Amino acid sequence: MSILIKDIIATLGATYLGTHPEEAVDNVSIDSRSLQNSSNSLFFALVGPNNDAHTYIEDLIKAGVENFVVNYIPEGCQDSANFLVVPNTLDALQQFAAYYRNQFHFPIIGLTGSNGKTIVKEWLNFLLSPDFNIIRSPKSYNSQVGVPLSVIAINKKHNLGIFEAGISTVNEMAKVEKVIRPTIGIFTNIGSSHDEGFKSLEEKISEKLLLFKDSEVIIYQKNELIDHNIQASAKKMSWSFDQEDADVYVYKKEINTDSASLQYSYQGKQFSLKIPFQDSASIENAISCLLTLLYFKYDHETIQSRMLLLYPVEMRLKVKNGINNCSIIDDSYSSDFQSLKIALDFLESQKQFPKKTVILSDIFQSGLSNEELYARVARLVVFNNINRIIGIGETISDFKELFANCITYKTTADFIADFENLDFSNETILIKGARSFQFEEIVQLLEEKTHETVLEINLNAISYNLNYFKSKLKPKVKIMVMVKAFGYGNGGLEIANLLEHHKVDYLGVAFADEGISLKNGGIKTPIMVLNPENTSFPAIIQHQLEPEIYCLKGLYAFLKIAKQKKLQHFPIHIKLDTGMHRLGFNEDTIEELVATLQGEETVKVQSILSHLATSDDLVHREFAFLQIALFEKMSARIMTALAINPIRHILNTSGISNYPDAQFNMVRLGIGLYGVSNDPAEQKYLENVGTLKSVISQIRTIGAGESVGYGRRFMAQKATRVATIPIGYADGISRGWGNGVGYVTIKDKKASILGSVCMDMLMVDVSEIECTEGDSVIIFGESPTVIHIAKMLGTIPYEVLTSISQRVKRVFYR
Ligand SMILES: *Cc1c(COP(=O)(O)O)cnc(C)c1O
Repeated sequence: MSILIKDIIATLGATYLGTHPEEAVDNVSIDSRSLQNSSNSLFFALVGPNNDAHTYIEDLIKAGVENFVVNYIPEGCQDSANFLVVPNTLDALQQFAAYYRNQFHFPIIGLTGSNGKTIVKEWLNFLLSPDFNIIRSPKSYNSQVGVPLSVIAINKKHNLGIFEAGISTVNEMAKVEKVIRPTIGIFTNIGSSHDEGFKSLEEKISEKLLLFKDSEVIIYQKNELIDHNIQASAKKMSWSFDQEDADVYVYKKEINTDSASLQYSYQGKQFSLKIPFQDSASIENAISCLLTLLYFKYDHETIQSRMLLLYPVEMRLKVKNGINNCSIIDDSYSSDFQSLKIALDFLESQKQFPKKTVILSDIFQSGLSNEELYARVARLVVFNNINRIIGIGETISDFKELFANCITYKTTADFIADFENLDFSNETILIKGARSFQFEEIVQLLEEKTHETVLEINLNAISYNLNYFKSKLKPKVKIMVMVKAFGYGNGGLEIANLLEHHKVDYLGVAFADEGISLKNGGIKTPIMVLNPENTSFPAIIQHQLEPEIYCLKGLYAFLKIAKQKKLQHFPIHIKLDTGMHRLGFNEDTIEELVATLQGEETVKVQSILSHLATSDDLVHREFAFLQIALFEKMSARIMTALAINPIRHILNTSGISNYPDAQFNMVRLGIGLYGVSNDPAEQKYLENVGTLKSVISQIRTIGAGESVGYGRRFMAQKATRVATIPIGYADGISRGWGNGVGYVTIKDKKASILGSVCMDMLMVDVSEIECTEGDSVIIFGESPTVIHIAKMLGTIPYEVLTSISQRVKRVFYR
């Protein structure tokens, strides 16, 4: 680009304040941090809700930028640069882009629709690139700002443009239309996204159609609303699955194991087309591409051979965790100069590590000579402070000398063979390559391998829930947290550590060995053992655990050992049976209990406790009050007789919620800490702690009449896409959750379980979900919740949580 300032002034109708209107600019910038800013840049000072670029102008002038389009001239900047003053800098950017676009006279494809724009754009780029030098919007640059920037990147070597336009409300499309002025319009899927900005679907459609105001053809899926809103003069090219009068009538769709076959008629002839996808969104997107190729008059063989090579378009610039504490930016499906600039700016914004490596393939479609292209790339690399370049490809290898600290390989295979000799650690790695280089293999090597099935524990949520229950306690009331059963399945030591950090007063475990492993892990908080066997008393004493004593026999056994070991005031906890009838001294043993403890110096009654049988069910309120009253009476008797003042406690989680007057000196919090309440109203206040996750191992499509799993308990009524997930009843997923009862969540959608849950695996229906092997699966967490699963299985959340087997790795995060 080279445009004279005076032409820009005329185009924008700007007020000019400066001295050099005869000068030209060769690039446009809106980002003060962009490393491409230079003396020949034209900087548009945009004003956003949180950011006013006018505030950077002074610094930009110091950095050498000379030309600005502004709403006003910032104080102190007068006379130090060329200023083009306009009423609205965003409008000016669009006007400039429209003016620039009009200098070119090649076909331009404009894409709009609610879904599929980026995919169709990338696929068309791939399908048409053997014959055209294409400029396309980078990433999903489809906004009011993104569209003009995309268009401004056109240069003289291009001969086809593909631009997408997304709008969120009325009146936006007319502006974008002037900038793109597409000659070919493609309307991709019209879903419901962004509906908030429109009064009706009709308004949304008619607004979107404004993009194609002057297009020579509009390609779309036949739909009455669209037909009705297209102006009569436009040439239409439509397709349909069910309307024979569409230009392309797809009358048959067959889903195979890894592809789909379409039969369609076009201009009186019938064709069959195979595409390497099965999901309905991809099929629709591929059909949009088919119509475009037909419009360009490609023959059927070329269309088929190119379509077979279509690839999944990942969202570009994905950040992933890498090996050796690296961070990976995956941009492994494209390599052109424009997108390299964007990727490098993105790399700059990811500031985790000062060290930066770029793995870069040969670059195609630049419209520049190789000398000029790689010289520019080298400058970019220096500007962006890249520490290391790994170049892969014949051409980039030839220009190795242009880069400092650069190694090159002729092929991706050569790089992979040398991988062991390269050091990657504590750095950000941008992986950017043209599709033909198959850099996804490099991504795989560098990506951190995570275990397939994990229970992720959100430690912040635990802290949050703890504080929620603490806030319900009266001043001075202590808190014991139950971490029995491996922290209700969530992991023992990690959670105990967190609770110790939060200074809880006591931890409670069910058996001595649970307490011992916490003590061995360094826990100092006192630990009460609910159900100590007499044989474990020596170990309890050795590890300074505190036993709950619930019967005379146990008391005598403990005292015997205590005397042998000459203990002094060893803390014990006296459990009273007030109605639960599980463990505890009942009323008629109190006398003997008191007599035995009278004057006993080896032990000390640290606390007296009981347990409510019905704290979660207000139907049994009266019974709970009876238990509380009995506890009060029995414990008072012991305290008076022994003249002691121990801690008293009777409330568990739902007791804390329902019987606030029975807190005594301590409460015992259990399931609430893990984010589960028996009360739906209270549930709203708790945060989900555990998310059980897995991945898809394999996907296949079966036909009607075929079955899934043991006993053929799922029979497909129609073609069904089946995903296998490596988690089964041996991991704690109940068989009752299979056979259509339960579901898992994939990409925020429900996938119901097909047939029986196996020992180590289960199968789910993903016919309506766009997913691939390796995609993440949620077994429980936010959805479905443990509470929902428990309800459907006729059990309680406690059982679901504690059933998750120890072989499932626990991963803790904040
Ligand atoms: C498990 C347990 C608790 C905690 O019960 P939640 O309902 O999980 O809060 C309290 N006291 C005793 C004796 C327990 O066994």
